[in-house]
Amino acid sequence: MFSFVDEELARLAERGLERALTRTVEGPQGPWVEMDGRAVLLLCSNDYLGLASRPEVVEAGVEAARRYGAGAGASRLVSGDMTPHRELEERIRTFKGAESALLFNSGYNANLGVISTLADRSTEIFSDRLNHASIVDGCRLSRARVSRYPTGDMDALEGLLKRSSARRRLIVTDGVFSMDGTVAPMGEVASLAERYGAMVYLDDAHATGVLGPGGRGTLEHLGVDAPEVIQMGTLGKAFGAFGAFVTGPEKVIRLLVSRARPFIFTTALPPAVCASAARAVEIADREPALRERVGENASRLRAGLRALGLDTLGSSTQIIPILAGEPARAVEISRRLFEAGVFIQSIRPPTVPEGTSRLRATVTAAHGPDDIDRALGAIRDAFKEAGGAGWPKGAEG
Ligand code: PMP
Repeated sequence: MFSFVDEELARLAERGLERALTRTVEGPQGPWVEMDGRAVLLLCSNDYLGLASRPEVVEAGVEAARRYGAGAGASRLVSGDMTPHRELEERIRTFKGAESALLFNSGYNANLGVISTLADRSTEIFSDRLNHASIVDGCRLSRARVSRYPTGDMDALEGLLKRSSARRRLIVTDGVFSMDGTVAPMGEVASLAERYGAMVYLDDAHATGVLGPGGRGTLEHLGVDAPEVIQMGTLGKAFGAFGAFVTGPEKVIRLLVSRARPFIFTTALPPAVCASAARAVEIADREPALRERVGENASRLRAGLRALGLDTLGSSTQIIPILAGEPARAVEISRRLFEAGVFIQSIRPPTVPEGTSRLRATVTAAHGPDDIDRALGAIRDAFKEAGGAGWPKGAEG
């Protein structure tokens, strides 16, 4: 009955593309984690501010679990709307300086819900080619016509907008591209949107809490004031918990409550998760030093990699890809690194384009300069031992 499963698994294995759960973290997230009974330097977590294991964040969740119980018991529109949801939404609304905020159970769900609410069959969606898989799925769900533009290419975007005869238009982009660590040109996106009467939806999963002096994300980082932009941020990355939020004009949020199926038809987030996230937002707001440390670590790692002659694909943020080429090579380098006590996951197609398999390194505020230097030594050795394209001439030393 399941012969197609055998065939498909064999096909994936042949191409070096089978995915499996092989790496288990045996304690809390942090710069060093316990894996296979030993301490490993972790360089592929999105816990950018190191808040997932911060005692105040954990305690806030424990306290809320005692007070409100383990689960919300129902969707928010039935009986699952609880005080911690409201408190968290209000904190986020203030943090982002937005008219209104709404929680979703994850960034994935938010992207499905927002895009399928804002776009319908009569809509044309303009989507950056590097956008996250959940945006791609949201576009599919909306049944809108989707036009993709090369990443960050504003001439191409303008060309598409000019040609469009759609009644409703929606530009969708990541703020920080999750596999490249590059930043979308939001100033230009916002002005093109205004000129051509398009809405803008910004997935700020990797910028929230990290970019901008106050951690408000890509718009703050670039100094763009665009209150009409509908923004999504996750609570599971820089804020160390789980879930996501959407901010924007109050009437848009009201429509999402009535229309976004991934909001309506799912059990509300557990109260403890909301309380932990709320405390994390508060800490991120009042401790800019955390963001500064992320920036310093990122600069140190990027500079070191470039000095080794490795290709970091234009990254300018805490997400730092290291190009490896073919899937098997990326997997092999990641395996060698792990043996040396450094965990950097390999990323292969279809997550990234063919021929651009990579190691995706991320740094957090919890890493120290010694950690970065140790990682650089291990990366140099692993690339050298793996050989092949990508290990540059003259870098054998
Ligand atoms: N958008 C982007 C750009 C992401 O990288 C991710 C997570 N990898 C998501 C959305 C989904 O967010 P979540 O993990 O909260 O579902």
